[in-house]
Amino acid sequence: MPLSEFDLIERYFRNCGARRADVRLGVGDDAAILECPAGAELVAAIDSLVDGVHFPHGSPSASIGHRALAVNLSDLAAMGARPAWALLALTLPQADESWLSEFAAGMAALAHAHEVAIVGGDTTCGPLCVTVQVLGHVPRSCALLRSGGRAGDALFVSGTPGDAAAGLAIEQGRLAAVGETAAYLRERFLYPTPRLALGECLRRYASACIDVSDGLLGDAAKLAHASGCGVEIEYQKLPLSAALVRTLGPERAHELALAGGDDYELLFSVRPAQIGKLLAELPPERWGYARIGRLRENSGADVLRDGAVMSFSHSGFDHFATRTT
Ligand code: ADP
Ligand code: MG
Repeated sequence: MPLSEFDLIERYFRNCGARRADVRLGVGDDAAILECPAGAELVAAIDSLVDGVHFPHGSPSASIGHRALAVNLSDLAAMGARPAWALLALTLPQADESWLSEFAAGMAALAHAHEVAIVGGDTTCGPLCVTVQVLGHVPRSCALLRSGGRAGDALFVSGTPGDAAAGLAIEQGRLAAVGETAAYLRERFLYPTPRLALGECLRRYASACIDVSDGLLGDAAKLAHASGCGVEIEYQKLPLSAALVRTLGPERAHELALAGGDDYELLFSVRPAQIGKLLAELPPERWGYARIGRLRENSGADVLRDGAVMSFSHSGFDHFATRTT
Protein backbone atom coordinates (compact mmCIF):
# COMPACT_ATOMS: atom_id res chain seq x y z
CA MET A 1 0.00 0.00 0.00
CA PRO A 2 1.45 3.40 -0.91
CA LEU A 3 2.46 5.63 1.96
CA SER A 4 -0.10 8.36 2.67
CA GLU A 5 1.07 11.94 2.95
CA PHE A 6 0.15 11.91 6.64
CA ASP A 7 2.15 8.73 7.32
CA LEU A 8 5.11 10.03 5.35
CA ILE A 9 5.29 13.19 7.49
CA GLU A 10 4.77 11.22 10.71
CA ARG A 11 7.37 8.61 9.88
CA TYR A 12 10.16 10.71 8.43
CA PHE A 13 9.76 14.34 9.38
CA ARG A 14 7.90 14.79 12.67
CA ASN A 15 11.04 13.97 14.65
CA CYS A 16 13.64 14.71 12.00
CA GLY A 17 15.34 17.68 13.66
CA ALA A 18 16.47 18.64 17.14
CA ARG A 19 14.09 19.21 20.05
CA ARG A 20 14.04 22.78 21.22
CA ALA A 21 12.28 24.48 24.12
CA ASP A 22 11.52 27.54 21.98
CA VAL A 23 9.25 25.50 19.67
CA ARG A 24 5.80 26.05 21.19
CA LEU A 25 4.17 24.08 18.40
CA GLY A 26 5.98 22.14 15.69
CA VAL A 27 4.88 19.72 12.96
CA GLY A 28 1.20 18.74 13.09
CA ASP A 29 -0.93 21.88 13.20
CA ASP A 30 -1.61 24.41 10.45
CA ALA A 31 1.49 26.41 11.34
CA ALA A 32 4.35 26.36 13.83
CA ILE A 33 4.59 28.69 16.83
CA LEU A 34 8.11 29.78 17.75
CA GLU A 35 9.44 31.91 20.51
CA CYS A 36 12.09 34.49 19.65
CA PRO A 37 14.67 35.42 22.29
CA ALA A 38 14.36 38.95 23.66
CA GLY A 39 16.80 41.43 22.10
CA ALA A 40 17.41 39.29 19.03
CA GLU A 41 16.60 39.87 15.38
CA LEU A 42 15.10 37.06 13.31
CA VAL A 43 17.27 36.04 10.34
CA ALA A 44 15.59 34.09 7.52
CA ALA A 45 16.88 32.36 4.38
CA ILE A 46 15.38 29.98 1.82
CA ASP A 47 16.88 27.95 -1.01
CA SER A 48 15.58 25.30 -3.40
CA LEU A 49 17.48 22.35 -4.81
CA VAL A 50 16.08 21.11 -8.12
CA ASP A 51 16.87 17.61 -9.40
CA GLY A 52 19.35 17.76 -12.28
CA VAL A 53 20.00 21.47 -11.71
CA HIS A 54 21.47 21.79 -8.22
CA PHE A 55 22.54 18.18 -7.87
CA PRO A 56 23.06 15.41 -10.45
CA HIS A 57 20.05 13.19 -11.07
CA GLY A 58 20.48 10.05 -8.98
CA SER A 59 22.54 11.71 -6.21
CA PRO A 60 22.48 9.82 -2.89
CA SER A 61 19.34 10.97 -1.08
CA ALA A 62 21.30 11.42 2.19
CA SER A 63 23.38 14.02 0.36
CA ILE A 64 20.29 15.79 -0.99
CA GLY A 65 18.86 15.98 2.55
CA HIS A 66 22.17 17.24 3.93
CA ARG A 67 22.76 19.81 1.19
CA ALA A 68 19.23 21.22 1.24
CA LEU A 69 19.76 22.19 4.87
CA ALA A 70 23.49 22.95 4.59
CA VAL A 71 23.14 25.59 1.86
CA ASN A 72 20.63 27.46 4.00
CA LEU A 73 22.68 27.14 7.19
CA SER A 74 25.60 28.55 5.22
CA ASP A 75 23.54 31.67 4.45
CA LEU A 76 22.91 32.11 8.17
CA ALA A 77 26.60 31.55 8.92
CA ALA A 78 27.42 34.35 6.48
CA MET A 79 25.14 36.68 8.46
CA GLY A 80 26.79 35.70 11.74
CA ALA A 81 23.47 34.24 12.83
CA ARG A 82 22.71 31.16 14.91
CA PRO A 83 20.10 28.87 13.31
CA ALA A 84 17.13 27.61 15.31
CA TRP A 85 14.32 26.37 13.08
CA ALA A 86 13.76 25.04 9.57
CA LEU A 87 10.79 24.34 7.31
CA LEU A 88 10.94 21.76 4.53
CA ALA A 89 8.91 21.87 1.30
CA LEU A 90 9.35 18.58 -0.49
CA THR A 91 8.13 17.75 -3.99
CA LEU A 92 8.57 14.05 -4.74
CA PRO A 93 7.83 12.00 -7.85
CA GLN A 94 6.86 9.08 -5.58
CA ALA A 95 7.03 8.07 -1.92
CA ASP A 96 10.02 5.71 -2.09
CA GLU A 97 10.66 4.64 1.49
CA SER A 98 14.33 3.78 1.20
CA TRP A 99 14.98 7.10 -0.57
CA LEU A 100 12.98 8.97 2.09
CA SER A 101 14.63 7.35 5.06
CA GLU A 102 18.14 8.16 3.76
CA PHE A 103 17.05 11.68 2.84
CA ALA A 104 15.61 12.29 6.31
CA ALA A 105 18.71 10.76 7.97
CA GLY A 106 21.00 13.06 5.97
CA MET A 107 19.00 16.10 7.00
CA ALA A 108 18.56 14.93 10.60
CA ALA A 109 22.29 14.45 11.21
CA LEU A 110 23.06 18.04 10.20
CA ALA A 111 19.99 19.43 12.00
CA HIS A 112 21.03 17.72 15.24
CA ALA A 113 24.65 18.84 14.87
CA HIS A 114 23.48 22.46 14.91
CA GLU A 115 20.41 22.08 17.15
CA VAL A 116 17.98 22.98 14.40
CA ALA A 117 14.34 21.92 14.85
CA ILE A 118 12.28 21.04 11.75
CA VAL A 119 9.04 22.80 12.62
CA GLY A 120 6.93 22.32 9.51
CA GLY A 121 6.81 22.03 5.79
CA ASP A 122 4.79 20.95 2.82
CA THR A 123 4.68 17.71 0.85
CA THR A 124 3.58 17.53 -2.76
CA CYS A 125 3.85 15.17 -5.72
CA GLY A 126 5.87 16.22 -8.80
CA PRO A 127 9.42 16.42 -10.16
CA LEU A 128 11.95 16.17 -7.32
CA CYS A 129 12.59 19.53 -5.68
CA VAL A 130 13.62 20.28 -2.10
CA THR A 131 13.11 23.71 -0.57
CA VAL A 132 14.32 24.50 2.92
CA GLN A 133 13.75 27.69 4.84
CA VAL A 134 15.86 28.33 7.91
CA LEU A 135 15.18 30.81 10.68
CA GLY A 136 17.71 31.90 13.23
CA HIS A 137 18.72 34.86 15.26
CA VAL A 138 21.41 37.37 15.90
CA PRO A 139 21.73 40.01 18.66
CA ARG A 140 20.08 43.24 17.53
CA SER A 141 22.17 45.16 14.92
CA CYS A 142 25.04 42.63 15.11
CA ALA A 143 24.47 40.74 11.83
CA LEU A 144 27.32 40.58 9.30
CA LEU A 145 26.38 42.18 5.99
CA ARG A 146 27.92 42.11 2.54
CA SER A 147 27.95 45.88 2.55
CA GLY A 148 30.21 46.64 5.53
CA GLY A 149 33.59 46.45 3.79
CA ARG A 150 35.74 49.36 2.70
CA ALA A 151 38.91 49.91 0.68
CA GLY A 152 41.95 48.71 2.60
CA ASP A 153 40.17 45.88 4.44
CA ALA A 154 41.93 42.51 4.20
CA LEU A 155 40.05 39.61 2.59
CA PHE A 156 39.96 36.08 4.02
CA VAL A 157 38.35 32.80 2.99
CA SER A 158 37.65 29.65 5.00
CA GLY A 159 38.36 26.10 3.82
CA THR A 160 39.83 25.10 0.48
CA PRO A 161 37.65 26.43 -2.35
CA GLY A 162 37.42 24.49 -5.59
CA ASP A 163 37.12 21.09 -3.92
CA ALA A 164 33.32 20.91 -4.27
CA ALA A 165 33.41 21.84 -7.97
CA ALA A 166 35.97 19.08 -8.55
CA GLY A 167 33.80 16.69 -6.54
CA LEU A 168 30.79 17.52 -8.69
CA ALA A 169 32.84 16.96 -11.86
CA ILE A 170 33.87 13.54 -10.51
CA GLU A 171 30.23 12.74 -9.67
CA GLN A 172 29.27 13.62 -13.23
CA GLY A 173 32.10 11.61 -14.80
CA ARG A 174 33.74 14.75 -16.24
CA LEU A 175 36.86 14.38 -14.11
CA ALA A 176 38.87 11.27 -13.27
CA ALA A 177 40.16 10.62 -9.76
CA VAL A 178 40.49 7.50 -7.65
CA GLY A 179 40.79 6.28 -4.09
CA GLU A 180 40.94 8.64 -1.15
CA THR A 181 41.44 11.70 -3.35
CA ALA A 182 38.20 11.06 -5.22
CA ALA A 183 36.36 10.20 -2.01
CA TYR A 184 37.49 13.43 -0.34
CA LEU A 185 36.53 15.67 -3.27
CA ARG A 186 33.15 13.99 -3.80
CA GLU A 187 32.45 14.39 -0.09
CA ARG A 188 33.12 18.13 -0.33
CA PHE A 189 30.36 18.41 -2.95
CA LEU A 190 27.91 15.92 -1.42
CA TYR A 191 28.27 16.99 2.22
CA PRO A 192 29.34 20.64 2.45
CA THR A 193 30.10 22.04 5.91
CA PRO A 194 28.24 25.21 6.88
CA ARG A 195 30.74 27.36 8.82
CA LEU A 196 28.35 28.34 11.59
CA ALA A 197 30.79 28.58 14.50
CA LEU A 198 33.16 30.71 12.43
CA GLY A 199 30.32 32.95 11.26
CA GLU A 200 29.17 33.66 14.80
CA CYS A 201 32.71 34.43 15.99
CA LEU A 202 33.31 36.71 13.01
CA ARG A 203 30.70 39.17 14.32
CA ARG A 204 33.53 40.45 16.52
CA TYR A 205 36.09 40.92 13.73
CA ALA A 206 34.66 41.04 10.21
CA SER A 207 33.46 44.17 8.42
CA ALA A 208 31.58 42.21 5.74
CA CYS A 209 30.85 38.57 4.94
CA ILE A 210 29.33 36.40 2.18
CA ASP A 211 29.18 32.67 1.72
CA VAL A 212 30.87 31.30 -1.38
CA SER A 213 28.27 29.41 -3.38
CA ASP A 214 28.77 30.58 -6.97
CA GLY A 215 32.57 30.75 -7.14
CA LEU A 216 35.07 32.69 -5.03
CA LEU A 217 35.89 35.42 -7.55
CA GLY A 218 32.25 36.16 -8.42
CA ASP A 219 31.18 36.16 -4.79
CA ALA A 220 34.14 38.40 -3.86
CA ALA A 221 32.92 40.80 -6.57
CA LYS A 222 29.44 40.74 -5.00
CA LEU A 223 30.80 41.56 -1.55
CA ALA A 224 32.97 44.35 -2.96
CA HIS A 225 30.13 45.80 -5.02
CA ALA A 226 27.78 45.78 -2.02
CA SER A 227 30.52 47.54 -0.04
CA GLY A 228 30.97 50.20 -2.75
CA CYS A 229 34.53 49.18 -3.61
CA GLY A 230 36.57 46.68 -5.62
CA VAL A 231 38.62 43.62 -4.69
CA GLU A 232 42.01 42.05 -5.43
CA ILE A 233 42.77 38.40 -4.83
CA GLU A 234 46.33 37.11 -4.79
CA TYR A 235 46.66 33.99 -6.91
CA GLN A 236 49.50 32.53 -4.85
CA LYS A 237 47.60 32.92 -1.59
CA LEU A 238 44.60 30.80 -2.54
CA PRO A 239 44.36 27.92 -0.06
CA LEU A 240 44.22 24.75 -2.15
CA SER A 241 43.73 21.22 -0.88
CA ALA A 242 46.40 18.65 -1.70
CA ALA A 243 43.65 16.53 -3.26
CA LEU A 244 42.67 19.31 -5.67
CA VAL A 245 46.25 20.00 -6.76
CA ARG A 246 46.96 16.27 -7.14
CA THR A 247 43.87 15.84 -9.32
CA LEU A 248 44.10 18.94 -11.52
CA GLY A 249 47.65 20.24 -11.28
CA PRO A 250 48.37 23.67 -9.81
CA GLU A 251 47.08 25.86 -12.67
CA ARG A 252 43.65 24.27 -13.06
CA ALA A 253 43.37 23.87 -9.29
CA HIS A 254 43.71 27.65 -8.92
CA GLU A 255 41.14 28.21 -11.66
CA LEU A 256 38.63 25.96 -9.97
CA ALA A 257 39.27 27.60 -6.59
CA LEU A 258 38.41 30.96 -8.17
CA ALA A 259 35.54 29.97 -10.43
CA GLY A 260 34.08 26.69 -9.16
CA GLY A 261 30.86 26.75 -7.13
CA ASP A 262 29.20 24.89 -4.24
CA ASP A 263 31.96 25.51 -1.68
CA TYR A 264 29.78 27.05 1.06
CA GLU A 265 32.85 28.61 2.65
CA LEU A 266 32.89 32.07 4.22
CA LEU A 267 34.57 35.00 2.49
CA PHE A 268 35.03 37.97 4.79
CA SER A 269 36.76 41.31 5.08
CA VAL A 270 38.51 42.69 8.15
CA ARG A 271 39.61 46.26 8.94
CA PRO A 272 43.43 46.56 9.14
CA ALA A 273 43.20 47.49 12.84
CA GLN A 274 41.28 44.27 13.61
CA ILE A 275 43.57 41.81 11.79
CA GLY A 276 45.98 41.25 14.68
CA LYS A 277 43.14 40.52 17.08
CA LEU A 278 41.48 38.14 14.57
CA LEU A 279 44.69 36.15 13.98
CA ALA A 280 45.47 35.96 17.70
CA GLU A 281 41.99 35.07 18.92
CA LEU A 282 40.90 32.82 16.04
CA PRO A 283 44.16 31.15 14.97
CA PRO A 284 43.84 30.50 11.21
CA GLU A 285 45.38 27.03 11.38
CA ARG A 286 42.79 26.00 13.98
CA TRP A 287 39.81 27.75 12.41
CA GLY A 288 40.76 26.90 8.83
CA TYR A 289 40.89 30.21 6.98
CA ALA A 290 43.49 32.16 5.03
CA ARG A 291 44.18 35.75 3.96
CA ILE A 292 43.80 35.98 0.18
CA GLY A 293 43.59 39.65 -0.77
CA ARG A 294 42.09 43.04 -0.03
CA LEU A 295 39.33 45.48 -0.84
CA ARG A 296 40.36 48.54 -2.90
CA GLU A 297 38.92 51.85 -4.10
CA ASN A 298 38.64 50.88 -7.82
CA SER A 299 35.55 48.83 -8.60
CA GLY A 300 35.73 45.33 -10.10
CA ALA A 301 37.45 42.12 -9.07
CA ASP A 302 40.97 41.20 -10.13
CA VAL A 303 43.31 38.31 -9.53
CA LEU A 304 46.95 39.33 -9.13
CA ARG A 305 49.83 37.03 -9.91
CA ASP A 306 53.34 38.32 -9.23
CA GLY A 307 51.81 41.78 -9.16
CA ALA A 308 50.24 41.48 -12.64
CA VAL A 309 46.50 41.31 -13.28
CA MET A 310 45.22 38.03 -14.73
CA SER A 311 42.15 38.29 -16.91
CA PHE A 312 39.33 35.82 -16.72
CA SER A 313 37.06 34.55 -19.47
CA HIS A 314 34.40 31.85 -19.51
CA SER A 315 36.86 29.39 -21.00
CA GLY A 316 39.23 29.93 -18.11
CA PHE A 317 42.09 32.24 -17.28
CA ASP A 318 44.06 33.98 -19.91
CA HIS A 319 47.27 34.03 -17.97
CA PHE A 320 49.02 37.37 -17.72
CA ALA A 321 46.81 39.02 -20.35
CA THR A 322 47.11 42.77 -20.16
CA ARG A 323 43.98 44.57 -19.21
CA THR A 324 42.66 47.22 -21.55
CA THR A 325 40.59 49.08 -18.98
P1 ADP B 1 -1.86 22.12 5.72
O1 ADP B 1 -2.73 21.40 4.74
O2 ADP B 1 -2.61 22.75 6.84
O3 ADP B 1 -0.86 23.04 5.08
P2 ADP B 1 -0.31 19.73 5.80
O4 ADP B 1 -1.27 18.59 5.84
O5 ADP B 1 0.35 20.09 4.52
O6 ADP B 1 -1.01 20.98 6.44
O7 ADP B 1 0.83 19.46 6.86
C1 ADP B 1 0.50 19.01 8.16
C2 ADP B 1 1.64 19.35 9.09
O8 ADP B 1 2.80 18.68 8.66
C3 ADP B 1 1.98 20.83 9.15
O9 ADP B 1 2.40 21.12 10.48
C4 ADP B 1 3.14 20.95 8.19
O10 ADP B 1 3.97 22.05 8.56
C5 ADP B 1 3.84 19.61 8.40
N1 ADP B 1 4.57 19.13 7.21
C6 ADP B 1 4.07 18.86 5.98
N2 ADP B 1 5.03 18.39 5.15
C7 ADP B 1 6.18 18.38 5.87
C8 ADP B 1 7.52 18.01 5.59
N3 ADP B 1 7.92 17.54 4.39
N4 ADP B 1 8.43 18.13 6.59
C9 ADP B 1 8.06 18.61 7.79
N5 ADP B 1 6.83 18.95 8.13
C10 ADP B 1 5.88 18.84 7.18
MG1 MG C 1 -3.73 24.09 7.18
